[in-house]
Amino acid sequence: MTQTITILGSTGSIGTSTLDVVARHPDRYRVHALTAHTRVAELADQCRRHRPARAVVGSADAALALRRLLDASPDTRAIEIDHGPAALCEVAREGEIVMAAIVGAVGMPAALAAARAGRRVLLANKEALVMAGALFIDAVRTGGATLLPIDSEHNAIFQCLPLADGKVAADRRVSRILLTASGGPFRTRAVERMHDVTPDEACAHPNWAMGRKISVDSATMMNKGLEVIEARWLFDLGPERIEVVIHPQSVIHSMVEYVDGSVLAQMGNPDMRTPIAHALAYPERIASGVRPLDLAAIARLDFEKPDLERFPCLGLAYDALHRGDSAPAILNAANEIAVAAFLEGRIGFTAIADVVARVLDEVAVTTPHHLEDVLAIDQSARRSAHAALDETTAGAAR
Ligand code: NAD
Ligand code: MG
Repeated sequence: MTQTITILGSTGSIGTSTLDVVARHPDRYRVHALTAHTRVAELADQCRRHRPARAVVGSADAALALRRLLDASPDTRAIEIDHGPAALCEVAREGEIVMAAIVGAVGMPAALAAARAGRRVLLANKEALVMAGALFIDAVRTGGATLLPIDSEHNAIFQCLPLADGKVAADRRVSRILLTASGGPFRTRAVERMHDVTPDEACAHPNWAMGRKISVDSATMMNKGLEVIEARWLFDLGPERIEVVIHPQSVIHSMVEYVDGSVLAQMGNPDMRTPIAHALAYPERIASGVRPLDLAAIARLDFEKPDLERFPCLGLAYDALHRGDSAPAILNAANEIAVAAFLEGRIGFTAIADVVARVLDEVAVTTPHHLEDVLAIDQSARRSAHAALDETTAGAAR
């Protein structure tokens, strides 16, 4: 029996890897909807290959451009095209499986809509859990959704846990989870040389090919910080039971430590098609196209403690998690603004952490009860981050 799938963010790095796995199993999966923000030509190409019933883009202009491309062939003329956030939520409610792979806070409402609709939610969009963890988990429970982690670390932990529901808070067999981190491209760069990092250097990850925003997050290690917060919600455990260990080869994707001293690890080549295939078929296993692991060729696995002086963003994320309530949402919004400014060449690499720290100090922490509260918190943190940016760039110009 085939299952229908909606891929939110199909033109991105996770989106294209998902389509690669899906195309290997036409007997199991049928694409219901594909979405992209601006890359219309790529989306049209995906539509020709995967024939979804619906496609969603970011604007009316993009929708018109896509319509022209799809009308050129009788095979794609019937595809329904919409645009905007409401349409994203609509297609998110429709697929039996929903891959949430839009980058950033903008992906949250549609991921939440899929959870509320009781879908099988494959969550790559970690920002959704960081900014609205309690609401999201509540929506999964009340909507009767199945939430499966795509982030390679969380997918690894999920595979190493003893329970089908993945919740470990009440399970005294598990002592800790160990999140592995590659350390990104600047693990060994002199700290004095961190301020002159360029966007292209920051996006050149040693082990993974990813979108630009998450690549910068990996370089600052904010990505690992976001993942600590993501783990808190996915597995329902406190920060004291989540440890980060640097493992430059990215072969062990994370580990679970048990009270008897056993440590279970999930390994594999660094290729997102493994967690994607795992979550698509769970609890079955399907082929993903990932090369088998050649341990003799890898020869050695290294581990080290993260240096919080080199990577202040990791410390800021732990602080936000300890503070709780809206602090992680504030952290996330500030980071998105700061990373975008860095990618546009407006601020230096080390200013990302400065902007985030300042916004965390300035914006009052409150308790969000509804989606609207989270969106308002996100907006006020963004305003504060823009003000911090203006001062940083004015300071640099002086
Ligand atoms: P990407 O930049 O390659 O792709 C982002 C996708 O989101 C694109 O399809 C784009 O069209 C869409 N998008 C961007 N802005 C949008 C907007 N305003 N409205 C609607 N759609 C929009 O990003 P990626 O690397 O695929 O990452 C996607 C998510 O998965 C992120 O949350 C990231 O943290 C997470 N993730 C990625 C990887 C990876 O290996 N790439 C690994 C783990 C987690
Ligand atoms: Mg990850």
